[in-house]
Amino acid sequence: MSERLDRFMARANAAYYDQRNPFADFTTSPEISQVFGELLGAWATICWQMLGCPRPVRLIEAGPGRGTLMVDALRTVQRVAPRFREAIELHLIETSPRLRGIQRQRLPDACWHESLDEVPPGPFILLANEFLDALPIRQFIRGPRGWSERYVASDGPIEHSSDARDVPESWRDDPVGAVREVSPAAIEIIRMLGGRCVTHRGVALFIDYGPAESSVGDSLQAILDGEPADPYAQPGSRDLTAHVDFGALADAARAEGATVHGPVPQGIFLARLGLFQRSHALARSLPPEQAATIMAATRRLSEPDQMGRLFKAIAVSSGLQSCPGFEDDASSQGNGT
Ligand code: SAH
Repeated sequence: MSERLDRFMARANAAYYDQRNPFADFTTSPEISQVFGELLGAWATICWQMLGCPRPVRLIEAGPGRGTLMVDALRTVQRVAPRFREAIELHLIETSPRLRGIQRQRLPDACWHESLDEVPPGPFILLANEFLDALPIRQFIRGPRGWSERYVASDGPIEHSSDARDVPESWRDDPVGAVREVSPAAIEIIRMLGGRCVTHRGVALFIDYGPAESSVGDSLQAILDGEPADPYAQPGSRDLTAHVDFGALADAARAEGATVHGPVPQGIFLARLGLFQRSHALARSLPPEQAATIMAATRRLSEPDQMGRLFKAIAVSSGLQSCPGFEDDASSQGNGT
């Protein structure tokens, strides 16, 4: 008996997010610094204005974890744009009942959904940090006699010959040994958002890690107690992630007629939104020890050898001319509506 990798990963992560405390195993940007969520609150405010101040507006977060990003974002929104705060209908997409419980304590006014298609239509702003990397992937391996696909058996990974229909033309020249990854779930979400952008006004921001262009290689990884671990052992005991293929996401959004902004490295994106100004202002208001902690967190989020380069931001919109944080980026001209 074996299970296709994406089905194995879906089952393992559903168990993991429901039974374990993910935040003991890894630390995400909103948990590193309150400034991260505050900047995204400011980003959402500017986007709301660029969309023409729709009311009501659905503020959606996919995979909100402990709700920290949204709490920090809404605090900023309340301070800088109370009219936007009043217009917000809050929708959270979360599959883990345990994490929903934590989110409910911090964001009691939200509506929860299993998936994006349950969120009512209408103008929207969506935020998602480290959500796409948790979605299941399929892996294809180029062998001497053609492509095979990764499955998982009780004693580890195996390969089965793959259906030729699943192998695109663009992989034709890959060398023997090449590994290709696709995330049908991530592509489906981007397609749905692209479609919503065309029928309603809206913008979606994803921050995650992976290369800017589609590339070859096995990026499946497991983290257990903060350390790399065997991804195939004891499903549900460890966090499984894969690099996000920003190139494939951008293509899927454009194919729906939406405009794509970025991707840009997280360090540049956050700096453009005012990371350093906000961190310094916050640090000045705090005792020296806490000020030093804030500035260390800022470096962690932004420095290229930490989270500044591997992490990237990409946005999909209903034809916004420019999008905060992406303005000077040459690759941000989508062919949207
Ligand atoms: N955004 C948060 C949490 C990241 S962890 C942060 O930055 O701290 C990934 C989150 O996505 C968790 O909340 C997890 O339960 C949720 N998640 C994972 N797979 C999901 C899926 N298929 N549908 C909805 N939520 C999912």
